[in-house]
Amino acid sequence: MSKRDYYEVLGIPRDADESAIKSAYRRLARQYHPDVNKSDDAEERFKEINEAHEVLSNAEKRQMYDRFGHAAAQGGSGQAGPGAGFGGFGGFGDIFEEFFGGFGGMRAGPRGPERGDDLRYDIEITFQEAVFGTEKEIEIPRLETCPVCQGSGAEPGTKPIRCPQCNGSGEVRRTQQTILGSFVSVSTCPRCNGEREIAPTPCTNCRGQKRVRVTRKLSVTIPAGVDDGMRIRLAGEGEPGGRGGPAGSLYVVLHVRPHPLFQRQEADILLELPVNIVQAALGAEIEVPTLDGKTMLTVPTGTQHGAVFRLRGKGVPILRSTRRGDQLVTVHVVVPEKLNDKQRKLLKELGETLGLESLGKDTRGLFERLLDAVGDAFG
Ligand SMILES: [Zn+2]
Ligand SMILES: [Zn+2]
Repeated sequence: MSKRDYYEVLGIPRDADESAIKSAYRRLARQYHPDVNKSDDAEERFKEINEAHEVLSNAEKRQMYDRFGHAAAQGGSGQAGPGAGFGGFGGFGDIFEEFFGGFGGMRAGPRGPERGDDLRYDIEITFQEAVFGTEKEIEIPRLETCPVCQGSGAEPGTKPIRCPQCNGSGEVRRTQQTILGSFVSVSTCPRCNGEREIAPTPCTNCRGQKRVRVTRKLSVTIPAGVDDGMRIRLAGEGEPGGRGGPAGSLYVVLHVRPHPLFQRQEADILLELPVNIVQAALGAEIEVPTLDGKTMLTVPTGTQHGAVFRLRGKGVPILRSTRRGDQLVTVHVVVPEKLNDKQRKLLKELGETLGLESLGKDTRGLFERLLDAVGDAFG
């Protein structure tokens, strides 16, 4: 499932200000609210609109989204379904309250623990580092629990007190008289935000926000045998949870720079080895590069173009195993493009002894191709 860009969802430019976001959201949410709009995709659209607003209306989440896209919110499963990311999307209840005066009060009241947001960090490593593993220092900007107030939001020496507006219940009830009768609406307490207590003297370090933005240095161990696009999950290194919830995860996404010589196919290394026609015909000992340095490869007599030789155990270490893949060497017979008179004479003599007609259609071998290439000599 591919997710639409949040700005696209709300139909606003990337530099839209707060009020533009809000008005686009209100307009679309009214249009697609499932109680109003009975079309099939209204519910889906509505969720999408809600999620986009949830992220873009929050300066921190918006900043993360601008930097990392939807990946900023992706969890371990690699999916980011509605509500999966960024946490805290309250479902239909919240918006119902906001637009329709709180009939029903579906999801309201005190809030439970919330898991912290996941973070993503992209890192580029060399081919060699991916093969043999490495240790990387990274610096990630993230929110952390305020060290001054220990996340209470209250200035040290003061204590949070029970919220006077909801009396510590985290929710407020309203009875409304309407033509349809009397409705009781329950909503999250706006004063304490459902947290049941407030700090009368907010912590000056975090301004009562309980979290502060810091740049944290982390060391990431990249195991031998990783490949391009793999993600390393560092549990608990995402942003802190809310109300006692666990911290999110940090996903380090690996981008492997290509190697000038080696190609990789899972745990095997692919190498093209150019040999000349004489080496191919007579056989040769040829030095070939491997991940571990040079090694000698025996190219037997009569080796054909495209022949593949396997160097066992010279490939990439297999993750969570002590085994390694192989190196596959594909022989590339190179026909000389230019010949001097002596070479031309020698090949011509050789050609006369070979009797190409006897090769048959299926054995368009090395020498036939060679002779095609220097056909002028036989004109
Ligand atoms: Zn603080
Ligand atoms: Zn309250």
